[in-house]
Amino acid sequence: MNRTSPAPDDPAARERSAAERSAAERSFTGIAVSPGVAIGPMFGAVEAPAEVVRARIHATDITAETSRLEAAIAQSRKQLVKLRTRLGVLPEDSQAEIAPLLDAYLQMIGPSRLVRGAKKRITEGLVSAETAVFDESESLAEQIQSMAGDGDRAGRRRRAEEVREIGRRLIRNLTRAPFRSFAGLPAGAVLVAEFLRPADAALLDPARLAGVATDDGGADGHTAVMLRALGVPAVLGVAGLSEMAKPGDMLVVDGSEGTVVLHPTAATLANARRQVTAFAREQQRLGKLRRLPAVTTDGEEVELQANLELPAELPLIAQAGAAGIGLLRSEFMFMNRETVPDEDDQYDIYRTVVEAMEGDPVTIRVLDWGGEKDIEALQSAGIVPVITDPNPALGLRGIRMLLRQPELLETQFAAILRASAHGPVRALLPMVTTVDEVKAAREIYDRVARRLRRRGERIAEKLPPLGIMIETPGAALSADALALEADFFAIGTNDLTMYTLAVDRADTEVADLYDPLHPSVLRLIQFATEAALRLRMPVSVCGEMASNPLVTRLLLGIGLRSFSMHASAIPRVKQAVRALNIDDCARFARKVMEQSDPAAIRQMMLGEPESASAA
Ligand code: PEP
Ligand code: MG
Repeated sequence: MNRTSPAPDDPAARERSAAERSAAERSFTGIAVSPGVAIGPMFGAVEAPAEVVRARIHATDITAETSRLEAAIAQSRKQLVKLRTRLGVLPEDSQAEIAPLLDAYLQMIGPSRLVRGAKKRITEGLVSAETAVFDESESLAEQIQSMAGDGDRAGRRRRAEEVREIGRRLIRNLTRAPFRSFAGLPAGAVLVAEFLRPADAALLDPARLAGVATDDGGADGHTAVMLRALGVPAVLGVAGLSEMAKPGDMLVVDGSEGTVVLHPTAATLANARRQVTAFAREQQRLGKLRRLPAVTTDGEEVELQANLELPAELPLIAQAGAAGIGLLRSEFMFMNRETVPDEDDQYDIYRTVVEAMEGDPVTIRVLDWGGEKDIEALQSAGIVPVITDPNPALGLRGIRMLLRQPELLETQFAAILRASAHGPVRALLPMVTTVDEVKAAREIYDRVARRLRRRGERIAEKLPPLGIMIETPGAALSADALALEADFFAIGTNDLTMYTLAVDRADTEVADLYDPLHPSVLRLIQFATEAALRLRMPVSVCGEMASNPLVTRLLLGIGLRSFSMHASAIPRVKQAVRALNIDDCARFARKVMEQSDPAAIRQMMLGEPESASAA
């Protein structure tokens, strides 16, 4: 999707004058996560004030509050050290600007006056950690600003602001509050932030937002998945951007190339506008594929479905001509709310989606909590703990948590089963690693169905299929055993890549190591696919890999015929399918699977264009 800034006045004139008065143009590179070009003024979400609910504590809580403060300090230090280590990728003049600032921040969370003062306020003033940090940073900032005998007023103001900024960081980490509010986001702005949580991304209004660029984040993290789903041009992992760009600065975000230009010159702006037009034309051309079938040149039908992150995507899914929803990530229902949705709340949402799909199947995945998908309502309700363990991705995630909280799973199954009265539905279990998990979930599923029938609820006569995600190496390698218990497989290449290569999918630091085309990942996909095909069991790929048209030939060659992806990717993948024939795909897949060198595999994908393989 392409966005330009809005036109309350003349946008071209506004861009021109911004370009004229601006500092020199600066280019940044990051990770291209959502295609399209955006031109607009920077909205500096980093400036949002941290909210502090003032609270007093009991003397018995002093130790606990002090530990909370210690934990927030450790977390803040981790964030700042990470930012510091990534400065190396910036041009030298930019490094010279940011590095001293980060050093000052790091010093302030060391054994500093700020930290000592905040601790004293907890123990002597008996106030909560966030109240203590807020009061101490305000008082310190005021002291700095009113210091006599120092002629440099601007310098004093800057130092006071640094103290307030570190206070805000500590408070954000203490309160685990959504990182920022988007209420004031002006239409057509480019959102720039240090990082965005998936729950923050879910709050963005794609109709108002031109683009997104953040310092942190990886290609297939859940935030990236959300931004693609919303169709907002986005570049993540742009080191130093949130420190360099100031609110109102003009930016060009190229979500296809992974570049961001700050203070673009008139020539850069003109070029960006040409790209906006070209991208829109290409989208129009691809839109024409909507009504054409996804069939290979030798007549093999391929199922192309959409992933759904947020109900706001339903119109996009209809426009893309998806043959149903292959993955409804139900996490959105639990995000940005204070209470856990009950059976009726969930049923209403599922029913709306099922009815909107007009007879095309909808695969609803039960809640995949854990890892980067943290959900406050579940914490407030005491259902899940605050994630403090150092390895949340290897902890209580997905089906593991649901089997510990069976009421949550029962409620969700009940809502899904009731939705099955309105159209074809499938239920999907996330993060499976053992056969026992599937058996336990199926027992609950059957029990819930019996209970609903006793209650006189309408559900599909034949129980909807219950399938599993294949997204851990453990599940992929025991796919033959799991295939005997599950009704279908959905291969989640995002987590499969992360767990196979031990690379966090959302971490910029190791983004270069995150490679879904690594032979080990491909071998696991092939093993799981073959296990399913032997039993003639439905199998699909619903990870981000499915949306890459350069990989379609390989996946068809391995034997896959069903793919689910963000809606806007469907036309390109359909175009690829319609240019391929299955024999050639199978030959290509054999050649690729003989390779053990990731670079050679990547080269094979890029080196032989789709048209070369078309019959
Ligand atoms: C995956 O892991 O590939 C997947 C589709 O699930 P999610 O991205 O929601 O973790
Ligand atoms: Mg997953």
